[in-house]
Amino acid sequence: MDAQTCLKKLGYVGVLSFATTDIKGNPRVRSISAIHYEPDAVYFFTARGKDFCKELLDTEKVQVLGYTMYKEMIRLSGTVKPAEEQEKWIDVIFAEQPYLANVYPGDTRRIGIIFCIKNMEIEYFNLGVNPIFRESYMIGGGKITPKGYMITDACIGCGKCVKICPQRAIEKGKPSMICQEHCLHCGSCFETCPVSAIMRRGE
Ligand code: SF4
Ligand code: SF4
Repeated sequence: MDAQTCLKKLGYVGVLSFATTDIKGNPRVRSISAIHYEPDAVYFFTARGKDFCKELLDTEKVQVLGYTMYKEMIRLSGTVKPAEEQEKWIDVIFAEQPYLANVYPGDTRRIGIIFCIKNMEIEYFNLGVNPIFRESYMIGGGKITPKGYMITDACIGCGKCVKICPQRAIEKGKPSMICQEHCLHCGSCFETCPVSAIMRRGE
């Protein structure tokens, strides 16, 4: 898997969930299909009057989620800004999504605004394979956020975490080691370790 294949898969999914937060910090999610993909950026259309537009302008953050028929979750987190060359990208998206001309006929599309996500982290999580598989990628200045768990040198090699792991993602040793690509982030190992040798990554 790689970042470009993830973008292609999101394109096949078509309608994606876009999450923002409002001024009070409340979560807001919308379904958006007016999206155009470039290798280094994702462009999408909304209208300037919508709360969604205001939240994007206020926070400059968005998270986008797609789920494929093959049980693949693809999550894109990034910074978002109004795109340069607004008219060009409006025309590109309207050409790719003919139904939009029904929603915004003729020049009414000019109430639209195109946002661009350039710096992003992409998380790929496939529950349709055994063992499960996850990986993260970056585009532009995006950063990979460490998630899940890690085993520290406090491990005494008892093997209890190895037995309880639903994905057999832990190699026994001293210290034992979590294979991050196959970890569910379920936390069973964390709760089971008798010497608290397992920590959340990134803490
Ligand atoms: S968090 Fe869950 S899946 Fe990951 S290593 Fe621990 S027990 Fe296994
Ligand atoms: S349960 Fe804790 S001490 Fe035992 S092998 Fe796992 S990490 Fe090491």
